[in-house]
Amino acid sequence: MNKKEECEIVKDLAVQYIEKSLNEGSRNFVKNHLETCENCRKYYKTIEDTVCNESEQDKMVKKQFKKVHKRINILKIILVVILIIILIAGLAIWYKEATFSNLVNKVSEKVEYMESLDNYKITVKTINKDFKKESNSWEFEETYYYKDGKLKNESNQSIFFYEDDSYDSIYVFHDLRQIEYRHSNYIKKRKGSAVGLFSYIKENYKPITSTIYSLAFSIREDRFNGIECYVIRFASKNSYRDIWVDKNTYITVREVNESYSHFYRESVFTFEENVVTDADVDSSILNSEKYDDYTKMEVNTEIPQEQVEIIDAINAQ
Ligand SMILES: [Zn+2]
Repeated sequence: MNKKEECEIVKDLAVQYIEKSLNEGSRNFVKNHLETCENCRKYYKTIEDTVCNESEQDKMVKKQFKKVHKRINILKIILVVILIIILIAGLAIWYKEATFSNLVNKVSEKVEYMESLDNYKITVKTINKDFKKESNSWEFEETYYYKDGKLKNESNQSIFFYEDDSYDSIYVFHDLRQIEYRHSNYIKKRKGSAVGLFSYIKENYKPITSTIYSLAFSIREDRFNGIECYVIRFASKNSYRDIWVDKNTYITVREVNESYSHFYRESVFTFEENVVTDADVDSSILNSEKYDDYTKMEVNTEIPQEQVEIIDAINAQ
């Protein structure tokens, strides 16, 4: 083998030699040749640089690919987490909405039942605190007796007698020692009107808007006067209204309304069925001795016809 042939063989084996895949014999042969041949050493150096460069590039591409792959995986995880959060939030909203509209329905049904009753008594105790002017604070208690179409509304200061679908009513003012027999051109009371005190939820939280309301309102459970209650709260930045509903009867037992720098108002309600006697709603008591020194007068409280129509329209709703 002359030098030229040896060089050819050594050059042919370059890649395998660099990648270390030659057997020991061939390897030694190449090694020995390279020690003596500068030309082949140069050639090997060139090949080595090329092969190394290629594998470097290969590595870099692989690294880059791994990075991208990692990023895609992180994005996938973020997406799944977002979806889970949306799902949980959706479920929470749905649950709250369902709880809220269920409560509104139960309360509304109860109010309708109460309106249909022929015998009930309502007591309302109200405390009003005026934070700006103490002298404007007051406490007030009144009782409504309703039996078979007759309604009496009584407090320390006055007594009012009404009858369903009647143009006549009687107003008694103790401080004036005065009894007014009033005649009007519109109907003052209809059956169930006293129950209006309990209709706040029914009147204000219509089903159509209940989702919006349920987002604005919170419901919690709490006790009041030994009664397990749901408390519906609507709060703004500087005021709130709490309506306390008996968990068993769905009757409103308390309402608290506070405007932080202005006032605090609290009403406590009791509702009793079938406790009213005929005497409770009998206006003939006004003929007794107790009222001898009261001035008795007929009062006409007619209002313009267009106002009558407005009142009739409201009553017809
Ligand atoms: Zn050579």
